[in-house]
Amino acid sequence: MLKKLCPRFRTRYLSELTPDFFLERDIKGLLIDLDNTLVDWGEYSIPPEMIKWVTKMKMAEIKLCIISNALENRVKIIGEKLGIPWVSRAIKPRKSPFRRALAILGTKPSETAAVGDQLFTDVWGGNRMKLYTIWTTPLSTRELWFTKAVRHLEKIVLKKLKKKGIICE
Ligand SMILES: [Mg+2]
Repeated sequence: MLKKLCPRFRTRYLSELTPDFFLERDIKGLLIDLDNTLVDWGEYSIPPEMIKWVTKMKMAEIKLCIISNALENRVKIIGEKLGIPWVSRAIKPRKSPFRRALAILGTKPSETAAVGDQLFTDVWGGNRMKLYTIWTTPLSTRELWFTKAVRHLEKIVLKKLKKKGIICE
């Protein structure tokens, strides 16, 4: 169980990952979480550095797809603004939304990364699908009350992963 919650890579923000990071790892597609990964929680506006980052990825021909548990309306607006496809109401960590996103991008699990700020949805779901999982720091402290509760569990898991030497700071 613990291993399934362990990300392959940990970084602060999505915008810190360069096209080279992915190309060196033969990653051709990214499934990106929306809330607190690409935009602040519940937001419609996209931070300028994220717009720049998406442009950079597109220029490097890395395919992107938003995969979010949020409702269609907001995910669609952001997907259209960025010009990338999306899967909404994903109910991560279920496998089916990840499968749908892979079908949209046309990439294999071995050449696809899942990026997100939550261990129990983004990382677990990505690991279940054998994707390269990347865990990011939430963009804002604002989030769903349920997520706030889950953060305590994340801390416990992180402590255990560190203790076992599976993850280092
Ligand atoms: Mg999130």
